[in-house]
Amino acid sequence: MPGPYFDSHTHMDVRPEEDLERMAVAGVRKLLTLAHDPLPVEHHDTSIAHWKNVLNVAETASEYLIDAKVGLAVHPRAIPEDLDAALKALEGYLDEADAVGEIGLETASKREREAFREQLDMAAAAGLPAVVHTPRSRDPDVLDAIAAEIAASDVDPADVVVDHLVGDLAERFLEEGVNVGITVQPGKATPEEAVETVVRLSEHSDRLMLNSDAARAPCDVLAVPRVAWLLEKEGFDDVERVTYKNAEEMFG
Ligand SMILES: [Zn+2]
Repeated sequence: MPGPYFDSHTHMDVRPEEDLERMAVAGVRKLLTLAHDPLPVEHHDTSIAHWKNVLNVAETASEYLIDAKVGLAVHPRAIPEDLDAALKALEGYLDEADAVGEIGLETASKREREAFREQLDMAAAAGLPAVVHTPRSRDPDVLDAIAAEIAASDVDPADVVVDHLVGDLAERFLEEGVNVGITVQPGKATPEEAVETVVRLSEHSDRLMLNSDAARAPCDVLAVPRVAWLLEKEGFDDVERVTYKNAEEMFG
């Protein structure tokens, strides 16, 4: 029987409702929809409007029998000029969130690092998990900076998911004590690379989760069911753990 599946990283606010239906039919019954950078953000009013949008899409998902969890944050590519005001407003919205995300670094500029560190500490204070973006460039200096900020923050690495990793990079971040998200999307990981990583790192299968990162870029909203099916074909034992349970334990 297929599923249920939990897609641990999506941006359903920029996807059509047809995708919610396709995902539900394929067995995706939980997902995490995260704040991101759907439009240029100059002022924190725009951040707030975006968070409201993300909360709304979670409500829509319930009509498709999908229990959508919500991550709210200032994304590294959407830092407003009045960052302090945005962070203050975010604090008020975290009551309605299941995670702080997505946060992280794109270029590791001083300003990005400041936003990242503050929000890691906010996640720790709110008792929420944090979902961390890594750049498509996989620039080693930026990845080092991400690991350093997590280590220096108040957050428990066990409450952090570092996302969009595969292969050796997944292994490297598992060594930091965090959870690792594998994003199956062109330019991030193919379904086959995801399977290879999960099988190779199976001793850490309690800290791996899969997702589509469905947003505007080319993606596959059925990435999680697809990888689950491939893992089942491989005879992998812990399919439910990496495609549902780990994310459920973390985000509810
Ligand atoms: Zn994302």
